[in-house]
Amino acid sequence: MSSHLPAALIESLAGLPGYNRETFERVHAAAEKITSLRLNPFKLKTQEKAQEVLQALSPAGVGKVPWSGDGYYLPARPSFTFDPFFHAGAYYVQEASSMFVEQAVRATVDVSAPLKVLDLCAAPGGKSTLLQSLISPESILVANEVIKPRAALLADNLTKWGAVNVVVSNNDPRDFSKLSGYFDLMVVDAPCSGSGLFRRDPELVKEWSPESVALCSQRQQRILADVLPALKEGGVVIYSTCSFSQEEDEAILDWLADHFELENIPVTIDEGWKIIPTVTHKRNCTGYRFYPDKLKGEGFFIACFRKRSGESARKFKEQKTALLSAKERGKITPWINAPEDHQYFQHQEDVLILPPLLAAEIPLLQQQLYIRKAGVKAGQLGAKELIPDHQLAASTLVSDDLPAVSLSLPQALQYLRKEDPGVTTDVRGWALIRYGDMNLGWAKFLSNRMNNYYPKELRILKEITGV
Ligand code: SAM
Repeated sequence: MSSHLPAALIESLAGLPGYNRETFERVHAAAEKITSLRLNPFKLKTQEKAQEVLQALSPAGVGKVPWSGDGYYLPARPSFTFDPFFHAGAYYVQEASSMFVEQAVRATVDVSAPLKVLDLCAAPGGKSTLLQSLISPESILVANEVIKPRAALLADNLTKWGAVNVVVSNNDPRDFSKLSGYFDLMVVDAPCSGSGLFRRDPELVKEWSPESVALCSQRQQRILADVLPALKEGGVVIYSTCSFSQEEDEAILDWLADHFELENIPVTIDEGWKIIPTVTHKRNCTGYRFYPDKLKGEGFFIACFRKRSGESARKFKEQKTALLSAKERGKITPWINAPEDHQYFQHQEDVLILPPLLAAEIPLLQQQLYIRKAGVKAGQLGAKELIPDHQLAASTLVSDDLPAVSLSLPQALQYLRKEDPGVTTDVRGWALIRYGDMNLGWAKFLSNRMNNYYPKELRILKEITGV
């Protein structure tokens, strides 16, 4: 069996820590497909609930991703499209190696503190959903993506995740230089030559060349140089790639140590995880290499640094925002849990719900960034009532006491296709549509029919087979 790996890649890896040509080529030739996912701790609050979701996906059982609190391996890849729990944001399908970001975060910052976090290269949202699960509700996460359609996908995935304390922005890294000394933690999961994903997606091999590695390395330096001014003194930057090439990995660590006041921070790893530490010759920086022939995951590289000096958080001018009147708030509060813990703003036609730190920061962020989504969109205030938005149904703040209708699996799939699932119920008016206790979206029940308010752009388009 041939692995079809580029000869220039194989040659370039000789001598790198942990690299073994024979096992590396063999694991690529075998092309085993590994499926892993990370559960959503804010939506699956009990062990029983988590088990219910995993059991539905894999009755034969699951394995644990050793370096991740909520990460699991599935023995086979199910059809996620036809699992209503997937659409309810019960889990995120994520490559196992990249879940190690959890260890990097826990080793470098106090996650119980109110943090300002930036995920700079965030789409489709694997690291953002992970970061959001790790930080406290008092913290904020700015999930940024430079490519517009990818920023839209990122926003959809974060809506599904249900997070309240998140902003999605669509900016070039250089736009963040205006927020100097602002962030406590930033993750730069840089665009790279992608060799770490060759086993999973052999088509990527065609796009690889030594020239693309050199270009990626330059681009990674530019991205880091652009964004580092936005890191505060004492703040942490986590750098990662899915490339095996030292030009994009160890060489970037040396370049960072050479050009910025950054101190490299090691992360404790368990020997049984088979993650390979790598120490750069020039500046003695430690990074971590993930090889698919050593562990159950794809190729990955990660390292952490703390900013020794630089600007600490600057004071920015206070901006006014359009808070809702008490009467308007009164139309929203019955729809959400703990309404006193949040603030409410009118933004164009919509009412937004923001946690306090985000409410305080949004005017500044709005001034500097192109914001695609902030907090949770509650909906539009009609003359009599709120017309609720899908973001509210998907969020972890929607009230548990609202009218709700639970569907069977075939009915839930019909609802998600934006069809009429033919429900018989006494419920009238707005109601949450649920599958196994998890919210899928809104419907409005009239005396003779149900109006399906699942967003058209999210609906399942594939034909349903085997249910
Ligand atoms: N962090 C994501 C996750 O875990 O789901 C994956 C990010 S992917 C490795 C890199 C991202 O960087 C892509 O979404 C890509 O669109 C974006 N990107 C491409 N060129 C960029 C640039 N010049 N500056 C910043 N981001 C860029």
